[in-house]
Amino acid sequence: MALQLYNTLTRRKEEFAPIDPANVRMYVCGPTVYDYAHIGNARPLIVFDVLFRLLRHLYGPDHVTYIRNITDVDDKINARAAERGISIRELTEETNAIFQADAKALGCLEPTVQPRATEHIAAMIAIIERLIASGHAYEADGHVLFDVPSMPDYGKLSKRPLDEMIAGARVEVAPYKKGPMDFVLWKPSSFDEPGWESPWGRGRPGWHLECSAMSWKYLGETFDVHGGGIDLVFPHHENEIAQSCSAFHREAMANFWVHNGFLQVEGEKMSKSLGNFVTIHEALKDWPGEVLRFNMLKTHYRQPIDWTLAGLRESQRELDRWYPLAKQFAASSSMLAPEFVAALEDDLNTPEAITGLRRLYREASDDVAFAGARLASCGHLVGLFEKDLADWQAAPIPIDKAHVEALIDLRLKARATKNWAESDRIRDELAGMGIALKDNKDGTTSWELKR
Ligand code: AMP
Ligand code: ZN
Repeated sequence: MALQLYNTLTRRKEEFAPIDPANVRMYVCGPTVYDYAHIGNARPLIVFDVLFRLLRHLYGPDHVTYIRNITDVDDKINARAAERGISIRELTEETNAIFQADAKALGCLEPTVQPRATEHIAAMIAIIERLIASGHAYEADGHVLFDVPSMPDYGKLSKRPLDEMIAGARVEVAPYKKGPMDFVLWKPSSFDEPGWESPWGRGRPGWHLECSAMSWKYLGETFDVHGGGIDLVFPHHENEIAQSCSAFHREAMANFWVHNGFLQVEGEKMSKSLGNFVTIHEALKDWPGEVLRFNMLKTHYRQPIDWTLAGLRESQRELDRWYPLAKQFAASSSMLAPEFVAALEDDLNTPEAITGLRRLYREASDDVAFAGARLASCGHLVGLFEKDLADWQAAPIPIDKAHVEALIDLRLKARATKNWAESDRIRDELAGMGIALKDNKDGTTSWELKR
């Protein structure tokens, strides 16, 4: 089966055919480096890493170019640097280093290039000049704006009616704008803001322009896949398309637009005010990166994902069971299970692929060598079983000891009142956390963690 990908442009699954199979080209919007990335940001990291790995498998490792940019100029960066009393460069260097370490710990391969916005200002200025020359952009009051009505098919990605787009974009009302939807390509910088000389004075680029410039530089005017989270469809990706297609007189910026769904935590939107905000950095203190990766891949990338402790524990347990088997065999592409690859080729159906891994684990009781080698090989394709067995088994499992002991206390109280149902319920709850209880003769209960 050939690779099928759901294309947000057409709202259908389509057969993927690269423009040049000798150089399959993918761009994914990367982080704005001003703070720790959160576990929601880990989703596009992992999802597009799996797509990168699959493309490398299908077309050859030297035939895929994956660009993930680093946004290191942004008003959020300016504000945070001022708040912390450090330079912008210090902040972006520090945050980028953390991001790179997070991505590595999550088992993500390094993209081919991770270009920084601040190193591509000349390309951004070149695009603006083209847009002005062709009547798609205008200068007003030190700003340069994209003239949205100059592009008749603006909105073709998000397919929203104009009034909804205006509301969705939370359009800034500014006297220098000709139309309410027009967006900033270039804006002036005051002396204490980062800025670059340009034909329109000292200033800095708008966010959308960065991705048009960096994808152009590394992938050309039209490329194969553009990815990111679903929240980026509008206005970010719509504006990238407007800029690139108008500047290069192209029908398409990318042929496939692929978007991951959103992640929420324990059924709620993740937010700092709700206190359920989890950074990748924090999550990695509690769980091996492969557990986070595997847990992410259990849900199809386009579905919303509910990130729960129970799910993480289950993911840890499942990998714990598989690791000793998988590590007995070397991964090899000749031992990949065809149905595993077929599931991935079906719009990255990772839940189906994981069902296949479970089947292989069961089949190992009949034919260890065959099923074990397949398990190792399939896992490796999606970035699993990359640790040594000893390191894997030595990693501590996070448990909230106070919570465990409080539950044991409750169970002892239930037993004291002969409430056996409640006592059993608590025992089961603890068992679900991987905790085994032993009732001692002296009336106390001891516990241990079973992996
Ligand atoms: P940001 O730094 O907010 O631009 O996000 C970086 C990437 O993470 C983008 O591709 C976003 O779409 C994605 N993203 C942000 N929040 C979430 C979330 N809660 N779930 C899934 N993806 C997200
Ligand atoms: Zn982008």
